[in-house]
Amino acid sequence: MRAQDDVDPLVKEELLEKDRKYVWHHMSAHNENPMIIASGEGSWVTDIDGNRYLDGMSGLWCVNVGHGRREIAEAAADQMMKIAYATLVQSHIPAIELAAKLNEWLEGEYRIFFSNSGSDANEVAFKIARQYHHQNGKPSKHKFISRHRAYHGNSMGALGATGQAQRKLKYEPLGVGFQHVPPPYCYRCPFGQTKETCSLQCAQAIENAIVWEGADSVAGVILEPVITGGGMLVPHEGYLPAVRSICDKYDVLLIVDEVICGFGRSGKPFGHQNYGVRPDIVTMAKGLTSAYSPLSATAVSAELYDSFKEKEATSHFRHVNTFGGNPVSCKVALANLDIIEREGLVERSAEIGQAFRARLEPLNAHPHVGEIRIFGSAMGIELVEDQISKIPASVERVTHLILACKSKGLLVGKNGDTVPGYANILTLSPPLSSTEDDVNFII
Ligand code: PLP
Repeated sequence: MRAQDDVDPLVKEELLEKDRKYVWHHMSAHNENPMIIASGEGSWVTDIDGNRYLDGMSGLWCVNVGHGRREIAEAAADQMMKIAYATLVQSHIPAIELAAKLNEWLEGEYRIFFSNSGSDANEVAFKIARQYHHQNGKPSKHKFISRHRAYHGNSMGALGATGQAQRKLKYEPLGVGFQHVPPPYCYRCPFGQTKETCSLQCAQAIENAIVWEGADSVAGVILEPVITGGGMLVPHEGYLPAVRSICDKYDVLLIVDEVICGFGRSGKPFGHQNYGVRPDIVTMAKGLTSAYSPLSATAVSAELYDSFKEKEATSHFRHVNTFGGNPVSCKVALANLDIIEREGLVERSAEIGQAFRARLEPLNAHPHVGEIRIFGSAMGIELVEDQISKIPASVERVTHLILACKSKGLLVGKNGDTVPGYANILTLSPPLSSTEDDVNFII
């Protein structure tokens, strides 16, 4: 199919030549023939050959309101003409309005620290947690408990918190003080339990880690409400409340990474709201602006913030970044959140998930489908060689399926590929604005 975005073959060859020569692609050694995306509208993107694809992963789990939203572009242009840059050493109107709006979404009282990326937001959370304990009479609390298979970002601390060996190889040593425990992975329970015998041993593992490390040395637990990039691992509904109680028992902060699960993806404004817990710190990025502009935020409970009010010269949070909370990005975020609210996209996300659940049910009988896991409108299909042995589907089988989807115009993701042999979870996370036709197309 060729559309208005197709370019002259000679121009395309020239672009590809420059790409091969100058562009260092993310997450691949070398991509001889990358897909070059030229435009997007709604849930669909178009490459420079004019081929249209349904963007089944919303880019990298981020374009929650879909592509081509003119009102976001206009909000950005308008803000650029008013003032394109102001620091948050002082303040500016879009940051003030956005911080207040995020408090509505969070249903609690939080101070908002703005940065650029999800990795930044998590780094900020770690520094705030350590400094908080310092200023609260417990300076030895500095470690963080995280889970295997979790992804929390690419910088030294956030990668230290990440529980995926393949991402860390050759970059260690990373930020110190990160301990990992087994994830709540019910399909392959690390504790050999079943639904019937489960007594939340995965939550107990967090308590054990705190005790064994020494509660006086542990500053926080970091987790996603549902491990997304590590393979869509949806925990038992009692898991997050149990972790909250454990954190309270040992004066350990609960840091919830909502970089993917936030902004409607889970069928609620934030993922943790599905489990009725109140985090001490919430980190967010991606859907905050639907990736129309880079922005992230670390929301810190009002109680924690109190200990940063000036007592001595080093009591305040001594952290600054040039671009964090850029006025244009904040204005983009406000326009994005306005669309999500106006169009009811949080509820729409839940509906998309319900459609997946109901209409993909027959796939459960397919010999290569181990389990289908859905959280809001995010879905993981764990592919196996057969349902009895549960041997993860081979790389060839998964690759074949991904290419088959692409040839039919659907872009899907592949996750869980960071432990050798486990490249077997097909992921889908379409825009929350996906229409019935889009959902039918995916199904
Ligand atoms: N946290 C989670 C759960 C993520 O999935 C990601 C990125 O995919 C990050 C943090 C890091 O975000 P960024 O890529 O914006 O640094």
